[in-house]
Amino acid sequence: MIYYLKKFWKRNLTVIVIQLVTYALISLQSLIQMQTFQSLIELDFRRMLIFTGISLTGWGVICLMQVFGGISVSKAIWAMNGQIRRDISATLLSKGRQDYHAQDTGEYLSWLTSGVERIENSAWDSFFGLTAYICMALTAMVTLFSVHWSLLPMSLVNALVLLLLPRLFTKKMQHLGDVCAREQAAATGKLKELLGGFDVLCFFGRRSLFLQGISHASDQIEKPRYEQSRGQAVIASGIIGYAKSLTGVGPTLLVAFLSIKGIILQAALAGTGNLFSSVSNGFEGIASLRLSIAASKAYFDRIQIHADGSGEHSGLSAVPPVQDAITLKDVSFRYETKPVLTNVSLRFENGKKYALTGPSGGGKSTLLKLLLGWLSDYDGTICFDGRNIKDFTPEQLQDQMSYIEQDVFLFNISIRDNITLGEKFSEAQMDKALRESALEGDLPGFENGLDTIVGENGSNLSGGQKQRVAIARALIYNRSILLVDEGTSALDQRNADIVEESLLANPELTLILVSHHLSEERKAKFDQVYDLGSKAVQA
Ligand code: ADP
Ligand code: MG
Repeated sequence: MIYYLKKFWKRNLTVIVIQLVTYALISLQSLIQMQTFQSLIELDFRRMLIFTGISLTGWGVICLMQVFGGISVSKAIWAMNGQIRRDISATLLSKGRQDYHAQDTGEYLSWLTSGVERIENSAWDSFFGLTAYICMALTAMVTLFSVHWSLLPMSLVNALVLLLLPRLFTKKMQHLGDVCAREQAAATGKLKELLGGFDVLCFFGRRSLFLQGISHASDQIEKPRYEQSRGQAVIASGIIGYAKSLTGVGPTLLVAFLSIKGIILQAALAGTGNLFSSVSNGFEGIASLRLSIAASKAYFDRIQIHADGSGEHSGLSAVPPVQDAITLKDVSFRYETKPVLTNVSLRFENGKKYALTGPSGGGKSTLLKLLLGWLSDYDGTICFDGRNIKDFTPEQLQDQMSYIEQDVFLFNISIRDNITLGEKFSEAQMDKALRESALEGDLPGFENGLDTIVGENGSNLSGGQKQRVAIARALIYNRSILLVDEGTSALDQRNADIVEESLLANPELTLILVSHHLSEERKAKFDQVYDLGSKAVQA
């Protein structure tokens, strides 16, 4: 939290200066009020009118300052929230693939949305509330001092009691904040899943599950929030509030004593009342907002601050392009306790074409993920030209690999942008990719051709078209190794043939194509076919 406050210190300082001036003016108003009352007591109407005039002008200025204050707070919050979201995205980018997928993406969504909102409520609003209360209490104390010195120590004693009291409760509030953040993230994940599964649930007449799920997730969000608010209410309004009433007795007696003795103006009884309440309200506010800030800690804890904020992978150099071969030697892999690959030894030579077959669940996709560097806890060795891939990050390895996933993901943008992902390519490169992915023939069927928007995750395209967009994407990036995971499974035979022909005909490309079933005729087109189910491959 401090990091963000410091980062935007100019904006934040502006807010505080405006608050200080505002509260100084408000405290002055008490002195003016005192003079107005005193004039009344002394029946000096002219003086009374003058002070009333000054007071009204003063309030005008104060209102204006409050407008500026409000605007500058909003600007500061905008800047800090923006930075938080940038840091969250950098945090996510810095996670490895395995790490990223260890949590539900819905949870990340909640970090970026409701999490930031909670930070705004419990950290920023509280912080600026806090500085406002500090300004209010300080200016009131200075003003009290100017009325009579003894009023200052009296208000200080009160301040100390109100300030130290909440220390007893910060741990508790931090804990409630933790629970709140965790449950909220989990519930958002569930909500996202329910929304995604809407069609399935409706189709099978399971609408009740949708309703129950949402209501359950809602309780999961609301219950810890309720507990947090309840805790805050009991401590802030109850305990601290009552302590404030108790500390109000001393000042009243002191002022009464001083004015009866004629040491201060009689009217002081009226004016100082406001000032003392400013001090105690100020410190009460400080106390309760500190609790609220404590509760926001959990939301900050999950953000790693990246000084550069970019999240781009650091200046690691790419692995030199494979010249000879990718080799797997005695590679074994298990998901927790479930063995998937046992002692697999394979060789993929540069520029050659390989098919990888085997039964469903036989570990074909897993093998590709190992090559991509996404799964690291395997036994045996995987080498690119004799260099162990464990010495490189997945980002480094992926510089020379393209991957066509089994489940294609498309953004809800145009077909063109889905292929280029914002990178610049020439028309010739685009035409080649469209031709080789057999997407060319589909384009006239789209209203806006390449610029047709594909819908949420490509819902306006057929399964085969989606897959071909993904193939075009992999081809246009023109990397020397292409991993295809059932990438042609949703294509009709004619399109599958077009795609495979063009991939097989490219002499520079090392192709590893996973296919759950391959006809003998198609097998013959590959340099080698590895069957993951066979003894020759797995011991
Ligand atoms: P294939 O692509 O050959 O059909 P996979 O490599 O996808 O098979 O999966 C091999 C086995 O590993 C399957 O039995 C699958 O259930 C299991 N598996 C795949 N991914 C995971 C995962 N993330 N966690 C646990 N088990 C998994
Ligand atoms: Mg698979």
